[in-house]
Amino acid sequence: MQFVDLKAQYRRLKQEIDARIQTVLEHGQYILGPEVAELEEQLRVRIGARHCITCSSGTDALLLALMAAGIGPGDEVITSPFTFFATGEMISLLGAVPVFVDIDPETYNIAPEKISAVITSRTKAILPISLYGQCADFDAINAIAQNHGLAVIEDAAQSFGATYKGRHSCNLSTIGCTSFFPSKPLGCYGDGGACFTNDDMLARRMMELRNHGQDRRYHHTAIGINGRLDTLQAAVLLAKLAVFDEEIAARQRIAAEYDCLLQDVVRTPVVREGHTSAYAQYTIEVERRNEVENALRLTGIPTAVHYPVPLHLQPAFAAMGLGEGSYPHAERAGMRVLSLPMHPYLDRDQIVRIAQAVHDAVKACSA
Ligand SMILES: *Cc1c(COP(=O)(O)O)cnc(C)c1O
Repeated sequence: MQFVDLKAQYRRLKQEIDARIQTVLEHGQYILGPEVAELEEQLRVRIGARHCITCSSGTDALLLALMAAGIGPGDEVITSPFTFFATGEMISLLGAVPVFVDIDPETYNIAPEKISAVITSRTKAILPISLYGQCADFDAINAIAQNHGLAVIEDAAQSFGATYKGRHSCNLSTIGCTSFFPSKPLGCYGDGGACFTNDDMLARRMMELRNHGQDRRYHHTAIGINGRLDTLQAAVLLAKLAVFDEEIAARQRIAAEYDCLLQDVVRTPVVREGHTSAYAQYTIEVERRNEVENALRLTGIPTAVHYPVPLHLQPAFAAMGLGEGSYPHAERAGMRVLSLPMHPYLDRDQIVRIAQAVHDAVKACSA
């Protein structure tokens, strides 16, 4: 059994993907070829944003968004410590300071009611993560940001395909950043990402920054990066986009089946009213997580932990001096969360087998 079965998806889409790749090999425009613009247009329309700027990864999407928003040395950016490292990493890479706020223990997203207390004169932006596929509470976050004149950048690496009060993830704030890492809800065959915004000026900046700060060939108006999406990856994404709605529906159906089979034995994901999740992960909470994980591995069921160590306890952030106990909900989640296999091609037999194994493992580990 696979944690994410990319081969099953390829078998389904082989003809379309192979044809799209073949087209690129024949026209030979590997950098910013026509597929990149075609993909950006499709993504833009799907999300409902004025602009989509594809780029080389979700990490670079965050970097480009922060650069375009003018984040630099000494600035403070408010975010959650319960995330993949890249969120805090890109803030620090620009010389800014990540200021952490603990999570809502039910959704694992930043707790909006705790944000105001950490805003200072140096705060420039809020960077909420829409973790596991469910959007953070953007109405509450945007209201705070508006009161203080802050930008809001959504780390939507896990939530492409999710909705919040009828709007799409990636279009809920100043800039939305997503990832096309292979195992994300919409994944390519390598690294890729995208930024979305309704602000013409920010869009232009991000477009130039991803291409060495060029506004036209060999004319550089800013210090940027080489952050373009490969044409070949755009071609793969175009083929996959055709079935994306079906795949999200399949993830949601599978999650509902898991919920039904598991909710009497473990804490299953809480999806708030008005939200739909893209289920990048299906993450439960268990006691004695490592033992449960081992027991599942022995029965051939792969699991993963997203994420065992919150950012404030990572060695790279040790200089911030934030010890254990600083963000109790994030720390507790880090010890308890466990992600089960989740992808659109899980069949009913596999789901039942996984659920049964979770029941057995939880029972064995609490005995
Ligand atoms: C995957 C991920 C990223 C980074 O995306 P890459 O495409 O791997 O660079 C950033 N933030 C979160 C929350 C992620 O899950």
